[in-house]
Amino acid sequence: MTLAHSLGFPRIGRDRQLKKALEGFWQGTLTEAQLRETGRRLRAEHWQLQKDAGIELLPVGDFAWYDQVLTHSLMFGVIPERFRPADGARADLHTLFAMARGATDSCCGHAQEMTKWFDTNYHYLVPEFTADQQFALGWDQLFEEVEEALALGHRVKPVVLGPLTYLWLGKVKGSDFDRLDLLESLLPLYGEIFQRLAQQGVEWVQIDEPVLVLDLPLAWRNAFERAYNLLQKEPLKKLVATYFGGLEDNLGLAAGLPVDGLHIDLVRAPEQYPAILDRLPTYKVLSLGLVNGRNVWRCDLDKALAVLHHAHERLGDRLWVAPSCSLLHSPVDLTGEDQLDDELRSWLAFAVQKCEEVAILAQAIREPEAPAVQAALARSRAVQAGRAASPRIHRPEVQQRLAAVSRADSQRTAPFAERIRRQRAHLQLPPFPTTTIGSFPQTPAIRQTRLAFRQGRLGATEYTEAMRSEIRHAIRLQEELGLDVLVHGEAERNDMVEYFAEQLEGYAFTRFGWVQSYGSRCVKPAIIVGDLNRPRPMTVDWISYAQSQTRRVMKGMLTGPVTMLMWSFPREDVSPEVQARQLALAIRDEVLDLEAAGIRIIQIDEAAFREGLPLRRARWPAYLDWATEAFRLSASGVRDETQIHTHMCYSEFNDVIESIAAMDADVITIETSRSDMELLAAFERFAYPNEIGPGVYDIHSPRVPSTEQMISLLRKAAQRIPAEQLWVNPDCGLKTRAWPETREALANMVAAARQLRTEL
Ligand code: GLN
Ligand code: ZN
Repeated sequence: MTLAHSLGFPRIGRDRQLKKALEGFWQGTLTEAQLRETGRRLRAEHWQLQKDAGIELLPVGDFAWYDQVLTHSLMFGVIPERFRPADGARADLHTLFAMARGATDSCCGHAQEMTKWFDTNYHYLVPEFTADQQFALGWDQLFEEVEEALALGHRVKPVVLGPLTYLWLGKVKGSDFDRLDLLESLLPLYGEIFQRLAQQGVEWVQIDEPVLVLDLPLAWRNAFERAYNLLQKEPLKKLVATYFGGLEDNLGLAAGLPVDGLHIDLVRAPEQYPAILDRLPTYKVLSLGLVNGRNVWRCDLDKALAVLHHAHERLGDRLWVAPSCSLLHSPVDLTGEDQLDDELRSWLAFAVQKCEEVAILAQAIREPEAPAVQAALARSRAVQAGRAASPRIHRPEVQQRLAAVSRADSQRTAPFAERIRRQRAHLQLPPFPTTTIGSFPQTPAIRQTRLAFRQGRLGATEYTEAMRSEIRHAIRLQEELGLDVLVHGEAERNDMVEYFAEQLEGYAFTRFGWVQSYGSRCVKPAIIVGDLNRPRPMTVDWISYAQSQTRRVMKGMLTGPVTMLMWSFPREDVSPEVQARQLALAIRDEVLDLEAAGIRIIQIDEAAFREGLPLRRARWPAYLDWATEAFRLSASGVRDETQIHTHMCYSEFNDVIESIAAMDADVITIETSRSDMELLAAFERFAYPNEIGPGVYDIHSPRVPSTEQMISLLRKAAQRIPAEQLWVNPDCGLKTRAWPETREALANMVAAARQLRTEL
């Protein structure tokens, strides 16, 4: 029988209960027993929600106190020396949180590194491997949770990260060696885990191997067969799960692994069906991921069913249905969204609703005539038809404008060499000009003022005056410090995407659409619903006011099209490229309005530019092409003497430097201080022609860097980049910092720039 299962469920809870409990525990207002009780209740609730939705095989092991990769590190005993409990005691929750957040009471317990989970906005804690790495089972959470689910009467499928994905995600510390060499000593632990699960009465285990959708080195591909041949003898049935992309060159390898089932993502990579059928041995289960686990839209059930019917004819009972990936990446439950209109709500599905969709798809194969199936299909058709015809999605004026865009629109009039000459004459800045990235400390007072305004407790006039007073304060300070290019400080902005999204037509917002980003941190991305349009200026009043308060150059501050797109839930009915171009036109309008209002420098932030890179190299050129084009479209309407800046956070620029150059921003500011200016190597090699502001101090720490340190960094920068191309600025925005340290750090930074000027 076609079985409905799920690969994983969000763990934070409908009301972010886990977030609140974790933070309470860290602050000492919640005991460990209370925290554990919250976790137990959430797991029970989530299993029940999935079961009620019709999921037949429930995931266990998807719950994590902080991060599932970290849980595996504890399970395997991969605990860096600096966190190891004294006297060989067992690791506990304190060990786990120290690894995640850094030890609070010792000198050397800095947290493990965190990085993006494939191409999602979830971040995992990077396992640290040493040359003498020992593995030993040291954490019983999985077995306890299996027991817990069984006691509740559930039919479960434990989820573990596969050995190759786990090793791939980690990093080698200390001496240099190949982490793949650790495979042989890691595998016996999987054997132990599977045996214990089998003893608990488990039938199926899900082994996540999402690295199978990456460009894998040959040695890693070969290791797959070796590893799974060894695991073959273990008693459990094994489902290898792949997601976030297509298997492509790994398809034969994945299909042929000696396991009992394979899950593939048909949302991201529909083209791997039906090719997979020809490679799949006849004993194997095929699980089709047909409901998008990474977005908020309802599934087109007819479309999914067409695939399922075909697959069912070939596979019969060996066919399973699931979301494309773990639902960790979708919000929890649409039911609470009482502020969305009925139409829009009828288009959306969060994790609970996605489970219902999976269950209905399975039922549609088993009992096509069932009234529930017929009703769901009718609803799905109504949703698809409604969206296809809805004027809130299709705005002819936006589409016409986009169609009329020519290559020339994404091209500045003069080449950079000519522009910079005019800009220098126009701006009259000293060498090594100093500036900041945009935001100043978001004090509790600022946050409270914004909240009061939002809730209607503060009138518009009072709010405007409060924000203007913040702007004046920021300007006075920048003038006193002697900065050359000023910013208004972004006090009015909650978030660099949401602030703009709220002012564009075509976006929608949820109340509870939270998704875990890392640990207790959640984000609530805006949803791109339809064609995007800017009905009126978004920032011009604030920036013009700021400019009116100073004779120095005031920099206008915007978020770029690629970042707007990457940090939103996108549409599925048009390509990302089209959405980026629509955003670009909206931002272009704003850029031109700022210029017309007398703003001479405009910064268009593209913090997410590099993280948008597809998982497979072969897809990079296409992405980079439309991403750079969208940025240029947003920036290229201005006169030669108007200076366009862009900003990118910590990135590896080596392999994308050509595209960075193709963006043709007059100035790019980047995060470089922690790399000791190493990141400039890419710019140096490329002989990057435009101006660069390499960050001279780390804004993630309250530590105030000395003038000498910044001078030394600037000298290093000047060895790589001609001095006349250099700007002086911090790594990123200062919104998470407090005023005293900000003031001191900027004073030192200005002193460093002045020193460098005397050395010219
Ligand atoms: N202008 C933004 C700020 O200063 C940029 C933030 C970012 O790049 N993440 O906050
Ligand atoms: Zn940044």
